[in-house]
Amino acid sequence: MEAPRLYSTKPVQSLKPTKKIPLEEDHGKASDALPLPLHLTNALFFTLFFSVVYFLLSRWREKIRTSTALHVVTFSDIIALLSFFASFIYLLGFFGIDFVQSLVFQPSPDVWVAEDEEDDNEVLLAKEDTRKVPCGQALDCSLPPLPPAAPIVTPQKVFDEKPVTVTTEEDEELIKSVVDGTTPSYSLESKLGDCKRAAAIRREALQRLTGKSLSGLPLDGLDYESILGQCCEMPVGYVQIPVGIAGPLLVNGREYSVPMATTEGCLVASTNRGCKAIHLSGGATSVLLKDGMTRAPCVRFGTAKRAADLKLYLEDPDNFETLSVVFNRSSRFGRLQGIKCAIAGKNLYIRFTCSTGDAMGMNMVSKGVQNVLDFLQTDFPDMDVIGISGNFCSDKKPAAVNWIEGRGKSVVCEAIIKGDVIKKVLKTSVESLVELNMLKNLTGSAMAGALGGFNAHASNIVTAIYLATGQDPAQNVESSHCITMMEAVNEGKDLHISVTMPSIEVGTVGGGTQLASQSACLNLLGVKGASKETPGANSRTLATIVASAVLAGELSLMSALAAGQLVKSHMKYNRSSKDVSKATS
Ligand code: ADP
Repeated sequence: MEAPRLYSTKPVQSLKPTKKIPLEEDHGKASDALPLPLHLTNALFFTLFFSVVYFLLSRWREKIRTSTALHVVTFSDIIALLSFFASFIYLLGFFGIDFVQSLVFQPSPDVWVAEDEEDDNEVLLAKEDTRKVPCGQALDCSLPPLPPAAPIVTPQKVFDEKPVTVTTEEDEELIKSVVDGTTPSYSLESKLGDCKRAAAIRREALQRLTGKSLSGLPLDGLDYESILGQCCEMPVGYVQIPVGIAGPLLVNGREYSVPMATTEGCLVASTNRGCKAIHLSGGATSVLLKDGMTRAPCVRFGTAKRAADLKLYLEDPDNFETLSVVFNRSSRFGRLQGIKCAIAGKNLYIRFTCSTGDAMGMNMVSKGVQNVLDFLQTDFPDMDVIGISGNFCSDKKPAAVNWIEGRGKSVVCEAIIKGDVIKKVLKTSVESLVELNMLKNLTGSAMAGALGGFNAHASNIVTAIYLATGQDPAQNVESSHCITMMEAVNEGKDLHISVTMPSIEVGTVGGGTQLASQSACLNLLGVKGASKETPGANSRTLATIVASAVLAGELSLMSALAAGQLVKSHMKYNRSSKDVSKATS
């Protein structure tokens, strides 16, 4: 039984907070004592401190020489003492307290940001405001009152956790037969009828064969029956990847806690910071533009003329009805949407696009394509099917066809980030972000000849969510295609940021989504399994969440880069007062 959700996916009733949102409280610093540049304030207090110390010591010596009591003070002594305490407190505040704090407290986990080029100076750290509560709670978002405390649900026992030991004589015989090659390793599951035992025996045989220990790779704790015939063959254990949570991510009026499986430090913290900036600015809007999985077989004819005949036949709108009836026999959910052909001499590449409900849909579309190819053999008996996938699909490879036509879910996501949020949360400015985006994500990527890579690190977020939610991680290639746009709006005060992602390939049924851990992460997002009301709604929602999380990631990393690099160079070259509207034109 599932624990009732509290409010992670409930609509936030009002996107616009009814009260003005107080940003993080700005605790004054000693260095704010005078409205002067920091180095002048410091110089002033240093001079004052040492002057009064010198003065007071001289007065002390004089009093000893003239045998005057120490408590007899003149007006100038009082002024000197006051100046001494004032400058001492200032200097202690400036150096001492920060120093003590740095010794006592560990750095906030909300520091981060490593881009792909970690080995050079690009690993930037930025300290986030200390968030005392999750950012959603810091706001008055008029959330509905909390429901009465939910009963504590005993964790569901997913499978038998008994550790397996391979000690029996029968096991020992089996291990030896795998080692000497008389029993194929792949046959252990069917031979034993016990997937976990099969994994344990295979693992032991592997260790003996290679002479290498697998002691760090866990065996217990995975339901081996659940991966059989669907997720992984010849298992010997599983790799652990930590799952962190970014959020709440406010998108389309709902809050989501986004699970991210990663071993890249700072990634979750950085995305979390982006979520905070989005939340404080009223949330993001994510729109699904298209939803269709593709498969493109390659067929060959004796002449280019015959290949062209088939192209014309397939693209003729009059034939679409017949072809879709044949295609749609494959599944209740697969519905043919269109066919697009590309010809290369005698070879024809036929790109079928179909809706796939809540499944990512590769199996579904492949079955439909096979139906159509079988059907076509009647009218085109000279058609030679070279392969059900001819790479014009295009799966798990960067390809312009996906970038332009889309594959899976095409999503655009936007947010307007308030200027004060950019300053206080992201520690940068609108104009720095706009300029960096233009020079890095657009111009820099163009210089690199990028294909769909007009972003800072979309694949970081895509892959982490894919791993957590049981998607096919190899599809991060085309799923990470993304163009990030930034523009100054509201007279240059605020930032409009968008990510456009034409080929997010996700599902909430099938593949790794049904495994216990991955399914728990989908459940957290409120998109577990098949949508009962509207088939396809869960996977479409997941795609909009992926795009919004990418938006958060882009915002945070770009800000770190802008704060660490551009602002410094702006100050150096004295360009900080430049006109924002010019920067965006
Ligand atoms: P994929 O095509 O992503 O590899 P599969 O075809 O292996 O996924 O898994 C999808 C399976 O789930 C199909 O058998 C399909 O009939 C079933 N299914 C149940 N409900 C749904 C739904 N709402 N959307 C899509 N498939 C569903």
